[in-house]
Amino acid sequence: MLIDSHCHLADERFDADRAAVMSRAALAGVDCWVVPSAKSEEWPHLVRLAGRYPGLHPAFGIHPWYCERHRDVHLRELRRLLPGAVALGECGLDFGPERPRQAVQEHWFEQQLQLAEQMHKPVILHAYKALDRLIRLLRAYPGIRGVVHGFAGSSVQAERLVEMGFCLGIGTMLVKSGRLRKLVADIPAEFLLLESDAPDQSLQRGMLNEPAVLPRLLEEMAGIRNLAPEAMAARLNANAVRLFNLESFGVNNDL
Ligand SMILES: [Zn+2]
Repeated sequence: MLIDSHCHLADERFDADRAAVMSRAALAGVDCWVVPSAKSEEWPHLVRLAGRYPGLHPAFGIHPWYCERHRDVHLRELRRLLPGAVALGECGLDFGPERPRQAVQEHWFEQQLQLAEQMHKPVILHAYKALDRLIRLLRAYPGIRGVVHGFAGSSVQAERLVEMGFCLGIGTMLVKSGRLRKLVADIPAEFLLLESDAPDQSLQRGMLNEPAVLPRLLEEMAGIRNLAPEAMAARLNANAVRLFNLESFGVNNDL
């Protein structure tokens, strides 16, 4: 078993061949998936998929790109869905060009942090050019744990997050970035998670990324940390099980 801690299996780009994507993943040993969502339109589809695939564990949230199209009614809907979710996400901050205004993003981010705190759920965080601000806002919620997915920050930012009990989601960038490899070598192993972020972040130009890429990333990470891939996988799976409380969703952690 290998857990993909972040893949968008409900994404419409998989509509044409989702079953094939899932079976290629299972064949590669990736048979447990944490699937975040970005907007309310995706939620019903994700609920249906979770009913169909036992290894698929949903997270519901409002991504900063789409916050402006949501209303308070969606927060109530989110509250209703969260008991069946392994996390709230993805949510966060994105200060890239042509994104919603910072104040609007922060409003939705804080609303979701409050909800996660009340519902005792971890958060799956997106941060782009916004990590320092995100860390600052998180400090007001010391009870919350989570993961900064697709981590691409500095070693100082990584250390801060780890001190606060947050995991770092490591994806395909590991293959390409010397800086990320150094960081992955240095941070405590119990704060690392492995993710594909499929269908995004493909290693092959023009192709959709798939969870089946995970064994390749596992091998890279095991090499960096001087561990056998099996031992690295056991560590990473245990981290995901702990953060997302997967045992209560039927995931057997006897590795
Ligand atoms: Zn994502």
